[in-house]
Amino acid sequence: MTPACYAWQRMVARVTLEIALGKDFDYLIPPELEPLVDVGTRVKVPFGGREVLGCVTALLEQSRHPRLKSILKIVGRPSLVTPKVLALARWIAEYYCCAPEVALRSVLPEVVRREKEGWRERLFVRVAPRVGEMPELTPRQEEIWRVVEEMRALPLKRLMALTGATPQTIRRLEDKGLVTITPEVDERDPYAAELILPTQPLPLNEEQARALAAITRAMGAPGQAAPEKSAVFLLHGVTGSGKTEVYLQAIAHALSLGRGAIVLVPEISLTPQTVERFKARFSSGPLQTLVAVLHSHLSAGERHDEWHKIRQGRARIVIGARSAIFAPVEPLGLIIVDEEHEHSYKQEEAPRYHARDVAVVRGSRENAVVVLGSATPSLESYYNARRGKYTLLELSRRVDQKKMPVVRVVDMRAEARRERGQMVVFSQALREAIVRRLERHEQVILFLNRRGYATALECPLCGYVAKCPNCSVALTYHRPQARLRCHICNYDAEAPLECPQSACRNPAIRYAGLGTQKVEHVLGKLFPSARICRMDSDVLQRKEDYRRILGDFKAGKIDILVGTQMIAKGLHFENVTLVGVIHADLSLHLPDFRAGERTFQLLTQVAGRAGRGEVEGEVFVQSFTPFHPAIQYARRHDFNGFYEQEIEFRQQLRYPPFSRMVRLLFRGRNEEKVAFFAEYCRRQLEGLGKELPDLVMAGPAAAPLARAETFFRYHLTLRTRQMTKLSAALANLLPKLPLPEDLVMAVDVDPVTLL
Ligand code: ADP
Ligand code: ZN
Repeated sequence: MTPACYAWQRMVARVTLEIALGKDFDYLIPPELEPLVDVGTRVKVPFGGREVLGCVTALLEQSRHPRLKSILKIVGRPSLVTPKVLALARWIAEYYCCAPEVALRSVLPEVVRREKEGWRERLFVRVAPRVGEMPELTPRQEEIWRVVEEMRALPLKRLMALTGATPQTIRRLEDKGLVTITPEVDERDPYAAELILPTQPLPLNEEQARALAAITRAMGAPGQAAPEKSAVFLLHGVTGSGKTEVYLQAIAHALSLGRGAIVLVPEISLTPQTVERFKARFSSGPLQTLVAVLHSHLSAGERHDEWHKIRQGRARIVIGARSAIFAPVEPLGLIIVDEEHEHSYKQEEAPRYHARDVAVVRGSRENAVVVLGSATPSLESYYNARRGKYTLLELSRRVDQKKMPVVRVVDMRAEARRERGQMVVFSQALREAIVRRLERHEQVILFLNRRGYATALECPLCGYVAKCPNCSVALTYHRPQARLRCHICNYDAEAPLECPQSACRNPAIRYAGLGTQKVEHVLGKLFPSARICRMDSDVLQRKEDYRRILGDFKAGKIDILVGTQMIAKGLHFENVTLVGVIHADLSLHLPDFRAGERTFQLLTQVAGRAGRGEVEGEVFVQSFTPFHPAIQYARRHDFNGFYEQEIEFRQQLRYPPFSRMVRLLFRGRNEEKVAFFAEYCRRQLEGLGKELPDLVMAGPAAAPLARAETFFRYHLTLRTRQMTKLSAALANLLPKLPLPEDLVMAVDVDPVTLL
């Protein structure tokens, strides 16, 4: 190496630019910035006559490229992304087949990435340390002073509001040396209004204690280094078996070792109830720490502050939805993924990562213990546990020996026959059960995973069906507004009073299929004195609505709650003794190999809402295919039975977990072109069979949702056991294909939906 070269040592930074380019660029590090630039540092660099933002992903001794430009400046505090999280972003880019800047964008929240520091500063008035005599004050100044003296410190605005004083008057107090007025960071706390009472660890039952012991053993004891390699645990515990208490005590152990924890919860279950349970446990005592919350309903400012509390190490526990898996907790001791089977952990836009799988990878890279918890584990995770890749921990009983509710399956074919083909919303058995519960002042939850009133508008004479002009689906009738709406693209039109076909004009048009609005409507007629409330995304306009309705239900102001999957999960109401599933087959006939699994999970979750208190619960499942295994195993609370038959089906067809899947989705406005390019792709990909002998390709074919938002959709799936190899091959091959400009291709690795 020549001396000139030597001088360049460690002076080159490889930078991923935030404008989408799909590759990294090298820049020189000016000597004055050298001590500040590290992997993860955000920088501003010149690029094509512009200045753009980027993130340093590697430091090099030299570059292959001649004539490098220099980094212009450092943005924000150095090293916002820890090298570990950065490495995780690289893994995501490789495994999920996306550009590095796309992966990087998702590990750093938008508000943190912006150039400006986002702390909110406010002027604070504080009592100044007194030197000498109390100065003389006017009566007005005296009045204001007494308020400040009482409060010791408060925002200037607040003092103005309390006393009606102007800033000038308050400045007089500063002139007299009584107070200081200085800008201070004022942290936004999304839970500031909640009153949180500390809680103590509960004495565990035998199963809980065994699970906790296994988890803490894997983390090691105080004074010891973290174990070389930790195992992933799968905590399979029926609803109400006390999983959360195990999580809380496992976190306490991580804290006692000086390590932090990340708790992932599906967005929908991230209720104030849940958050408060975690905050309360760690709000006092020797393990006291802030609990940061990250989810999509935070304001940008709140998100900024929560993130920095973690980065600064003040919040050692993070609870949040999907993206919280990237929280900069350091060192990390424990990751909990609650309801690990939930599909909402999968991001449905690039990078299409699955937060549970990222958790497992992050855990192994940072030697953190990972606990996946669920009452209905995914087939993938349970299969891993059976094979010994994960350690299985079972909580087989509800805490306090509460019984699982009795589940009755109602054959709706028989009901329909009895009603001579009329649409039946409530079977006789469910109607009678509702009457019994109402008489005893107990509460009822009715579940139907479809909003709106009727799911189709049909003309019985000419066969016309109202369809969305943009999508390949029927429009849903919304009765309160008398509108027809598309649940894919939100297209909205007035509901016609007669058949709109000019040759027909039949006034007797028919509304077919049912949604939650109709359930609510029919209920009102059957039980005029019951207090009924509906909860679905049509009702919830603001984020307080959710809390308000649940609060009313808890307070006993509502007798019957009707809702979509929003009410299926995680809620805990002691007085709910009856749960009715109006139409259990809805998710069963989706064109997806996971339809059975999803139905089993949903039924088990819904059924778990009944009988959480003193009175035993009861569940009615209405179905047109009452003997389907997914329904029958759910009825018997038999996860193992369901697993055994489902895993056999997966094995026969070589579906996951016996293979991994990639789905290529092609979208465009010209259907022929979409179909043609998809077919062209298949031919180009055929050669991969040489490297991957177990590769199975299916399609291309029109996707089940053949058209959405005016785009035609075609898909092609590939299955293999060697996903890493396939990802690499696709990353190499796909960018070389001549993708027409008006066509979009999405690569979805480990898809959770095939719609
Ligand atoms: P899961 O998360 O499995 O649904 P939870 O952790 O929410 O179950 O527990 C259900 C209820 O039982 C909660 O009210 C919780 O406080 C209580 N609980 C959990 N463990 C114990 C225990 N060991 N002793 C007494 N009550 C417990
Ligand atoms: Zn539409």
